[in-house]
Amino acid sequence: MSQVFHRHCHTPLRTAVRGDGVYIYDQNGKAYLDASGGAAVSCLGHSHAGVRAALHRQIDQLAYAHSSFFTTDVAETLATRLTDRAPGDLNHVYFLSGGSEAVEAALKLARQYFVERGEHQRVRFIARRQSYHGNTLGALAVGGNAWRRAPFAPLLTPAEHIAPCYAYRDRRPDETLFDYGQRVANELEQSLLTVGPETVIAFVAEPVVGATAGALTAVEGYYTRIREICDRYGVLLILDEVMCGMGRTGTLFAHEQEGIHADIVTVAKGLGAGYQPIGAMIASDTLYDTIADGSGFFQHGHTYMAHATAMAGSLAVLDALEQEQILARVNPMGEALMSRLKARFAEHPHVGDIRGRGLFQALELVFDRETKRPFDPRSKLDSRIKSAAMALGLMCYPMAGTIDGHRGHHILLAPPFIITESQLDELTDKLAEALDTAI
Ligand code: PLP
Repeated sequence: MSQVFHRHCHTPLRTAVRGDGVYIYDQNGKAYLDASGGAAVSCLGHSHAGVRAALHRQIDQLAYAHSSFFTTDVAETLATRLTDRAPGDLNHVYFLSGGSEAVEAALKLARQYFVERGEHQRVRFIARRQSYHGNTLGALAVGGNAWRRAPFAPLLTPAEHIAPCYAYRDRRPDETLFDYGQRVANELEQSLLTVGPETVIAFVAEPVVGATAGALTAVEGYYTRIREICDRYGVLLILDEVMCGMGRTGTLFAHEQEGIHADIVTVAKGLGAGYQPIGAMIASDTLYDTIADGSGFFQHGHTYMAHATAMAGSLAVLDALEQEQILARVNPMGEALMSRLKARFAEHPHVGDIRGRGLFQALELVFDRETKRPFDPRSKLDSRIKSAAMALGLMCYPMAGTIDGHRGHHILLAPPFIITESQLDELTDKLAEALDTAI
C-alpha cells in the first residue's frame, strides 16, 4: 500500500518515470500522449532543453533566497517581461507557488486596497456559477462549483454567484449572441444592486472557463459590458488566467482578445510549464500605489514566493514561447485540432458542442443532442473516459461540471504547443475510441 496520501484513496495510479516531448512514459515503458498538458500545464512538453538548462544553471548559482531578505535578477527580469506584455497598467507582479495561492493573493490585495481607502464595508466577491478558482478556502469560496464547496461551506466567506456566459445552453432562440451576452453580463449589475454595490470588492471570472465548463469562451461584447458595470459601481475586476493564460488561447494573456483591462490578473500553470511550481498575481498601478502610498505593506506572503529556481525556469519558458516561436504555433495548431474534432465528432450522437480557443478546446457530452440533456451525474462517465483513454495511451481531462444544478460532462484538451499534425491524428483517433468504449 502506498504511503503517499493520494487524492483518490482507492484508484491505483501508474508510475510516471520519464517525459519526452508530448509523451509521458510509465514504469513499463508505455507511452501516454499528453493531450491535456496534465491540467493545462505542460505547454512546452516534457523535455524542453532550454528550460532544463536554465534550471540547472540557477540551482548551481543560487537555488533559493528568502524574499524578505533579497530580490534576485531572475525575479526582476521575469516581472519586467510579464508586465511589458500585460495589457493596461498591470505593472506589479507578486510571485507565488501556484494558482490557488495567486487567487488568494488577488482576493486579499483587493480587500486590502479598499481597507486602505477606508471602504471597510466592502466584504464580498461576485463570481460565476461555473468557475473554478482553486481549492484553498478563499479561492474555494469564490469558485462556483457547489459540490466542491459543500463540505467546507461553514468555513467560507460569502460570495455571490451569477450565470456564466454559456451560449450553448442558455441563449434563447430569439436572441442574437450579442444580446445574450449583454443579458448575462447584466446579471452582474442585478447582483450588485441586490447586495448593495458598496459592499462588493470585486467580480472574479476566468476569461475562458476551464475545468468546470470546458474551454467556454464568452460571446462578443460580454466582457466589455462586465468592465462597464465594474467601473460604474467602483468594483474591481479580477481575471483568473491560471488555466487559460500564458499563451494557451493564442495570446500570452487570454483577456487581450476581449479588448478590456483588468485590475488584477492571476496566472500559474503555463507560466512554469510544469518544470517547477509557480504562480503570479499581477496588479494594476492603482492598486499597488494605494498600498505603497498607504500602509506601504501588503499583508500577505508565503515562504517560497519568488523562488529563484522557479523564476529562472519561467524566464526560460517565456523565451521558448516568444523567441523560439512556440506561442506562434498555438493558433494554427489550434485550428488543426478543431478541424479534426469537428470532422470526427460533429455528428457523434453524444457530442453536443465542440468549442474553445487556441489549444484550449473541449467536447461537451450530452445524453441527447436534441434536448441537450446531460448524462446522469451518477454515471461516473468522466472516470470511465479517463480510464479508457489511459488504457489507450492518451491523457485527456474529462470532467463533470455543473449545469444549473445538474452535473454535465465535458472533455478538456490542452496539449503542449509543440504537438505535431500526426500527433493530433493520434489524439483524435484515441479520443474517439476512448469515448465509444466509455459510453
Ligand atoms: N484558477 C483556475 C482558473 C484554475 O483552473 C485552477 C486550477 O485548475 C486554479 C485557479 C488553482 O490552481 P492550483 O491548482 O495551481 O492551485
